[in-house]
Amino acid sequence: MADENVRDGNAAEGIDRAARALALSSRTVVLTGAGISKESGIPTFRDLDGIWTKYRAEELASREGFLSNPALVWNWYMERRTAARAAQPNSGHRALARLETLLPVFLLVTQNVDNLHLRAGNREIVELHGNIERYRCFECGKPSREDDSWSKGPPRCACGGLIRPNIVWFGEPLPAAELECSYRETQRCDALLIVGTSGIVHPAAMLPSVARQSGAFLIEVNVDPSGITPIVDVFLAGKAGKVLPGLVRRVEEFLAG
Ligand code: NAD
Repeated sequence: MADENVRDGNAAEGIDRAARALALSSRTVVLTGAGISKESGIPTFRDLDGIWTKYRAEELASREGFLSNPALVWNWYMERRTAARAAQPNSGHRALARLETLLPVFLLVTQNVDNLHLRAGNREIVELHGNIERYRCFECGKPSREDDSWSKGPPRCACGGLIRPNIVWFGEPLPAAELECSYRETQRCDALLIVGTSGIVHPAAMLPSVARQSGAFLIEVNVDPSGITPIVDVFLAGKAGKVLPGLVRRVEEFLAG
């Protein structure tokens, strides 16, 4: 359980315990959520200035919403894609890319769709909720690539179906292979680092419990306690872009002996 004394991201003791566990870990999983991209200017869903305070989730991120107003949903995703492309990975993303190069077996499981982990340099990534750069036909499922017709609104596939973002919407199952890989690796890991997720969206929110039951060391980085905080070993309070670079530097120091 998290020690009340180490709930400060700057607390050397918390950083030390977390860094030592990561340095000793032979299999490491990192789980990220929208919080890590906030310092890149991409809003989260549930913070006060988050996306759901302006729109209803069912209108923008569901099959029903898409079918009842394809243009609204399409344009919203095009705007989000433009914003994700304009955003830059922040120091938190870059620290996780560095961490991947330091540890023997490493997997980054993200709920984010913004591509920033890939752009920061992580290579072992599982995208649980899809990617805003990928699209497929709503009817036949065939992957789709951007062409000139995209500027005119929701485009259509050769089969006549509407093209939709390849993103998991409310009420839809997660991609089976990605989910299976995340569970398997989380069950086998020695350390799980959880960054910027509220722990509300299932089944991703189950992963910390899976790691806990397998005896892994759990570290959480978040500006506020989350639903996951009660089961972690170390809670590092603070912004991911501030906490993660210091944590990864400390891992490097431990590894250097
Ligand atoms: P969430 O909005 O439910 O929670 C965000 C969490 O991040 C909160 O716990 C908050 O306290 C924390 N946080 C905010 N700023 C932070 C910072 N600077 N450093 C560290 N932590 C910070 O997000 P979620 O748990 O990822 O789940 C919501 C869903 O939102 C996912 O399905 C995801 O696909 C989707 N989403 C993705 C993006 C993206 O791709 N960047 C953006 C918004 C929503």
